[in-house]
Amino acid sequence: MLIQYFKDDATAFNAAKKGTINGKGVINNKISSTIFKFLEGRGIKTHFVDLLSDREMLVKHVKIFPLEVVIRNITAGSVCKRLGLDEGVVLEKPLTEFFYKSDSLNDPLVNRDHIIAFDWATPEEFQYMWKEALRVNEALKEFWKEKGVKLVDFKLEFGRDLEGNLVLADEVSPDTCRLWDAKTNQKLDKDRFRFDLGAVEESYKNLMERVAQ
Ligand code: UDP
Repeated sequence: MLIQYFKDDATAFNAAKKGTINGKGVINNKISSTIFKFLEGRGIKTHFVDLLSDREMLVKHVKIFPLEVVIRNITAGSVCKRLGLDEGVVLEKPLTEFFYKSDSLNDPLVNRDHIIAFDWATPEEFQYMWKEALRVNEALKEFWKEKGVKLVDFKLEFGRDLEGNLVLADEVSPDTCRLWDAKTNQKLDKDRFRFDLGAVEESYKNLMERVAQ
């Protein structure tokens, strides 16, 4: 097993922007742990074992696929830039995107054929990640709705543990999800840091308080 340590360091735009969000590590550890436990309860296998301390999570040792799986419920971020779309358009069905994890290539968008051709995952592994990400979306939409928050989009990473099981890994936090207040559409996630919107720490704290309820 491994200890995953949550820092306050923040990066954006492929690390072109760097900074610190005070207390973020503690908050992301708490939110991620709560979400992993919630997802386990919904039958989704994760790498989560235990919350050890403020900044430490005990996790299974997994080999991570070099892929980011993004699910979108509302348009925002890179899809708007890439396709010239307005932000905030509610999608009829969740949109799934895969990105190849490569800093030097700026995490390019890839499709199923690329993933299989270049051996980043087998067809079965691809199918699992795709279906599982959609299941996670359904569960998380409900989770956040109860807290008065809209789940706009999020990124997942999957891996294979030492027993050969495919599991959800990494973290699920305001760093990896876009989360808007359900009433006001106020952004409560890392976009506040990315775009210098202010009240970054307050927004992370606000989310943590809602999760702790
Ligand atoms: N995301 C992430 N890590 C990344 C890229 C994206 O956690 O390296 C998350 C991001 O926070 C958002 C979702 O994935 O919730 C979709 O991000 P998008 O493709 O719109 O890219 P961005 O606008 O963040 O560059």
